Order: sequence, then C-alpha cells, then structure tokens
Amino acid sequence: ADHQGVTSDYTIAVDNPNIKYTNDYIETKYIYEMNHCDVDNIQKKVNIIPRKYEYLFRTKRTVQRTGVMLVGWGGNNGTTFTGAQIANREQMTWMRKEGIQYSNYYGSLTQSTTIRIGSNDTGKEVHIPFNTILPMLTPNELVIGGWDINSSNLYEAMQRACVFDYELQEKLKSAMIKMKPLPSIYYPDFIAANQEDRANNLIPMGTKQQDLEHLRNDIRKFKHDNNLQQVIVLWTANTERFTDVKDGLNMTADDILKSIENNNEEVSPSNLFACAAILEGCSYINGSPQNTLVPGIIDLAQKNQVFIGGDDFKSGQTKMKSVLVDFLVSAGLKVQSIVSYNHLGNNDGKNLSSAKQFRSKEISKSNVVDDMVGANHLLYDKKTNEHPDHVVVIKYVPFVKDSKRAMDEYISTIFMNGLNTIAIHNTCEDSLLASPLIVDLVILTELMTRITYKTSDMNDYQPFEPVLSILSYLLKAPMVMPGTPVINALFKQHRCITNILSACAGISMDTDMLLEHKTK
Ligand code: NAD
Repeated sequence: ADHQGVTSDYTIAVDNPNIKYTNDYIETKYIYEMNHCDVDNIQKKVNIIPRKYEYLFRTKRTVQRTGVMLVGWGGNNGTTFTGAQIANREQMTWMRKEGIQYSNYYGSLTQSTTIRIGSNDTGKEVHIPFNTILPMLTPNELVIGGWDINSSNLYEAMQRACVFDYELQEKLKSAMIKMKPLPSIYYPDFIAANQEDRANNLIPMGTKQQDLEHLRNDIRKFKHDNNLQQVIVLWTANTERFTDVKDGLNMTADDILKSIENNNEEVSPSNLFACAAILEGCSYINGSPQNTLVPGIIDLAQKNQVFIGGDDFKSGQTKMKSVLVDFLVSAGLKVQSIVSYNHLGNNDGKNLSSAKQFRSKEISKSNVVDDMVGANHLLYDKKTNEHPDHVVVIKYVPFVKDSKRAMDEYISTIFMNGLNTIAIHNTCEDSLLASPLIVDLVILTELMTRITYKTSDMNDYQPFEPVLSILSYLLKAPMVMPGTPVINALFKQHRCITNILSACAGISMDTDMLLEHKTK
C-alpha cells in the first residue's frame, strides 16, 4: 500500500533477522552507534572515536487496561480532555455557524501524525500512523477520573471553561454530569489566594501523612473499581509556587517521606500526589511548572521502579520558540532578544496573576533556548556565557477567557550586523492545545511501562531510567535524569521518540538521506 491507504487498523511486520515476534513480546537487537570525542585544547584537535553498543529491546505486545487520574480534573484542561475523549469515542458531531463539526484528535502526536517508514517499488514514500509502529493504548479506551478542590461536576466545569461549542456541551451533558471529582487537598500557601473560593471539595482536615494515605487509598479504589492493570496520575491542577529544595527536607526518598510524617509545611499538595502515585506503583506526570519532582521524589521513583515525567505542558508559545530559535541559530543568525507577552482570561491566568505562581511559570519558560544557544559557540561566547535577552510577561484579562493571546518578538543580528525582527501574534484556545498533549503523555508513558532493554553486561531486561526524558517533546521544561543533557529543540525531541520506537520495532531509522534517489 502506498501512504494514502495506511490507516490505524493496519499492522506492520518487519522482515529482519534482528527482530523476533513471540506471543508476548516484540524483541529486537539494535546497534547504537555514537561518537566518543576527546577534545585536545593544546593541540586544538578533536579526536573522534566511533563506538558501538548492542541493545536488546523487548516490548510487551498487550496494552494494559489503563486509567488516568487527573489532579485538577474540573479545570479547563481536565474537562476538555474528558469531553473530547467521550466525543471521539461516541463519534459525536455538532453544528456551529460554519456547519457540521466532527470530533478529532488533532494536535496529538500519537493519534494525528504519521512516520515516514520507507518507500515502495515505485519510489513512493510510505507513511504509517504513529500509533501503528508499536502496540499502543487507544485513547478512547482510557478510563478517566481524578480529583478537584472544586465540587462542580464535569458538565458544570465544562460550561465554566467556555471551550467547547454550545451544542457539543449539550451532547456531552448526560455523560459528564455524572462525573464528579474526588475531594482533594488544599494548602492555601501553594496556589494563589484568589483560588480560595474554589476550594469547596476537600478531604477532612488531617496531617500530611493522613492526606498521603487518603490519596493512596483513592488510587487503589479507582484501580480496583475499574478493574485496571495500571493507573497514571497526571497533575493538571493550578500552578503552585516553588518549594524549597534542601537537605533534610526533600533531597532523598527518606527525607521526603520523613517530612510528610513530620507534617513539614514545605511539602506541597503536588509532592503528596507524586509520592502517593509512586508508592502505589503508578507513573506520575507533572503538567504544570512547579518543582514537584524534587531529588527526593526522583529517588523514591527510582527505588520503586516507577516512571515520572515533567514539567509543564508545552502547548503553544514555547513550542513555537523551540522551533524558531532552533531554526535561527541553525541558520547562523544570532538571536539577541526574545520578548514573549501573553494575556489570557481563564482560571490558569487568574492563578498566574499572583507573583509566586507566575514565578514558577517564568522559570519554566525561561530555559527553553539554552541548549540551542549553547550548541553554537561561534555565535555565543562560551566564556562569558553569552545568551539572548529573554523576557516573559503574562497578564490576566478575564474577557478573552480560554482564548490565549501570545505575542512574541525575536530580534537577531544577521549578516554584517543587520537586524532581523520577527513578530508573531498567536490566538488560540489554550486547552485545545494542552489536552491532546495529555493524550500523548498517557499513551507514551503506558508504552514505556511495556518496554525493557538489556545490554551485553546485564543479566536481565530492565526498564528505562525513572525520569522519562523521552516525553521532552511534550513538556516545556523537560526533566531528565540528574546530570544528563536537557534537549529543548523540538525536532530533536521528536526524533528521539520516533527513533527509540523504531529501534524497539526493528525498523531502520529515517536518516533523511534519501540516498536511493541521489545515487544510481
Ligand atoms: P484551571 O485553573 O482551569 O484548572 C485547574 C484545576 O485544578 C481547577 O479546577 C482547580 O480547582 C484545581 N485545583 C487546584 N488545586 C488543586 C489541588 N490541590 N487538588 C486538586 N485540584 C486542584 O487550569 P488549566 O487551564 O486546566 O491548566 C491546568 C494547569 O496546566 C495549570 O497549572 C497550567 O499552568 C498548566 N498548563 C496549561 C497549559 C494550557 O492550558 N495550554 C499549558 C501549559 C501548562
């Protein structure tokens, strides 16, 4: 079949001696080649030593029955994600002034993109849907639940969000009115004071240890009641302020568990949700910018062999930035100033109008060009740590509701010191960009729980490291294992996912060389 015919109900079969299909697994052998470099600053020479490592990858073929518990289920993202899933599952259509509308998963890497896999006899390129490369969870089958400090049912919460068209809201009403977020924990010090009137759905006041037990029990019950094999907990609640990170508080797994026991006031609600998830053997993803995943929580995840990922959904402005700056710097143009202005009118904007919460967002938005700038020492002087000016402004304007405005100005020095100014104006429903990322985060995380690997010096297959840096494409301030490089450039992040999945599927990676068309 050429690319036009290949849909998600196709399967792939790879004719390669390095791949073995068993009833339970897809097993592949992959030779990882990389260059080891020795830089000799005295001789001014780079010695390059190509190295090869053999990896065996094993992917479990059966997708697990999975549930996702959203913290902040009644928020704009929570309701949009949930409503869209129901609408897609039920293949809902609705009318608006432009005519009939069909449900879709646009904006989701796993559901709405393809991978070029090769070419056919006539030289035509063949693309397969992303979700056919390896067995993946279907979003329509996900069981959704979660917590919110506000008691509104999901129908009322969806109305409050003002994201979906009216007729779609009405079609979703009967399903969503029955969905009610579990009571949550609210420590007023961590989110903006302007959120207080929302907090009417709280678990009984207790110690942090009791709160932790309560959340663990909620997860166990959700898993049991829905007959799930796996639960993923994902934070899409309000942005919290940063917590302190220090010895004795949260630097080790023991620290953080002791701090909870001692009811330490620097333990945030999101710290508790992350610990509860990890202790229940569930992956935990942080969709907001705060520093939930402190070293002690990474340690706890490592000890419990559970995945964590974060921070902060990368939906609009930052995604654009990580493409544009990569393009400019790769083109040899010296970006000197990046000014990003936003205004938005949803509850996220309201929460971010408070200084400490804005600061969390500012930090998560600020490092996104570091790797691209750092990679070009011809433009940016390494000795002085030269980098562009970078300012982020966020304003709360209730009238625009979820329709966020982002205005960015990029100024670059170009050939012979001319200036190039690019201005971008972007208007978009915030939650319609963020919700498909939740789909992908959950699907890729579930997939990663089924992939193990083995190198020649290992006796047994092991899971990947607990910090899922493979999710970087979807996250604004990607978390990586301590001491390993952070990649922000969007297409590198994309290739990281497609190449790792290709290796696990036994498919040669797309090098873009297209030698078959350049040679005889
Ligand atoms: P929202 O304010 O509409 O939803 C957050 C929900 O969390 C609210 O319903 C609130 O009641 C609830 N909440 C607050 N504290 C809670 C707690 N301790 N336990 C349970 N529930 C709690 O916000 P949103 O637009 O859905 O965004 C959610 C988060 O995602 C924000 O932190 C935002 O910064 C982040 N984010 C959003 C986008 C985007 O929408 N495009 C992009 C990147 C990051």
